[in-house]
Amino acid sequence: MNVAIIGGGIGGMCAALSLLQRGVNVTVYEQANELKEVGAGLRVTPNASRILRRMGLGEILHQSAIQTTELLYYRWEDGRVLAQQVLGNSIEIKFGAPYYHIHRAALHQLISDAVPREHIKLDQKCVRIEPMGDALGVHFANGDVAQANVVIGADGIHSVVRKQLHGEDRPRFSGDVAYRGLIPATRLAEWTRAPTQKIWVGPNSHFVQTYAGPDYINFIALVPGVADRESWSREGSLSELAEKFHGWDERIHELLANTDRVMCWPLYDRDPLPQWTVGHVTLLGDAAHPMLPYLGQGAAQAIEDAALIGKCLAGVTPQEVPTALAVYERLRRTRTAHIQLGARSEGNIYHLPDGQEQRKRDAAFQEMTGANASRDEWLFAYDVLAEPQPQ
Ligand SMILES: Cc1cc2nc3c(=O)[nH]c(=O)nc-3n(C[C@H](O)[C@H](O)[C@H](O)COP(=O)(O)OP(=O)(O)OC[C@H]3O[C@@H](n4cnc5c(N)ncnc54)[C@H](O)[C@@H]3O)c2cc1C
Repeated sequence: MNVAIIGGGIGGMCAALSLLQRGVNVTVYEQANELKEVGAGLRVTPNASRILRRMGLGEILHQSAIQTTELLYYRWEDGRVLAQQVLGNSIEIKFGAPYYHIHRAALHQLISDAVPREHIKLDQKCVRIEPMGDALGVHFANGDVAQANVVIGADGIHSVVRKQLHGEDRPRFSGDVAYRGLIPATRLAEWTRAPTQKIWVGPNSHFVQTYAGPDYINFIALVPGVADRESWSREGSLSELAEKFHGWDERIHELLANTDRVMCWPLYDRDPLPQWTVGHVTLLGDAAHPMLPYLGQGAAQAIEDAALIGKCLAGVTPQEVPTALAVYERLRRTRTAHIQLGARSEGNIYHLPDGQEQRKRDAAFQEMTGANASRDEWLFAYDVLAEPQPQ
């Protein structure tokens, strides 16, 4: 059995590790010519940290990440606390795994460092997949062809594999854009350095500040914007961003005043796909279920996919692959679709204009105070490997 993974992002690398640890031969084909990631802070919630621990990455994750102690919701204009949820050790006690924030590049590195280099091929941009004898031929832009019994498309939101399997689909613009910034922690006042996640919610927008590893403060601001090219790497205007938060809590402006540059990207997602797999080819991570960032589950869901695909393909012969991939898809599609759609509605809750609905929301937030993440129990308590395999 040879498995080809197209794309060496967090999802692809984690799938490679999961398969190798179960004795399945795998090669990752990544279009970039070096393994260097960009991006900003990600949250690693217990449903994902539990898996990374099982993969033997618990200690390195703990060293590279910040264990978040509290989740604080603030009112937009005066910064009044709306809710204060306890995380830290109580999350570990409740869910059996921790809640972290980490820089995307650090998470990618700690996973890819665990995949032996001979299983990773760089500078390999997949352009199409074709039948090749009893197996599949993966064709690359440089003319190379690789043979495999299984192809996993982990090639992100612009997935070539998804396009080949299911045709061109229509990205759905959310109406919002995300601005992301990183600020050296030493540049900022003490209040920013508490290992907490802070969320200011207000009319049409919200602003989140966290840590992205020990040295950087990370923020993401979600505001109404215009549809533009779907890209993670466009620079945005700091003054425009400050203008959008005119009249909001001064602490937001303190952060913006200490920021050198912001990245800005329009937020798109797709409707859940009714089918991921065709024969010996399937999808994983953002290629399968691109989602808005409002539930902070992009990386976590790719990690869940990766853990399960390793379990489903372990010990399988090439003839048994379609059945194994159908099981993988069946177990993953409902949960990821629920999260894709849930992320859409979470944005609406945060962005309520002041009024009756907003007061109801704030009252519900009050009830969360002191509790430990019960609102997110459905996300955090889930253990993908505990799912019974359908017959
Ligand atoms: C540049 C970037 C920055 C991001 N920053 C953040 C962030 O700050 N915070 C956050 O929460 N989420 C961020 N994300 C999203 C988050 O990382 C993903 O939602 C999550 O990790 C799932 O990843 P994935 O492996 O499925 O896809 P991706 O992370 O998109 O990885 C896909 C990989 O496939 C490779 N690839 C694509 N096409 C081909 C091809 N044809 N042939 C071979 N290889 C190919 C890409 O180069 C990439 O390495 C970012 C994603 C990107 C791409």
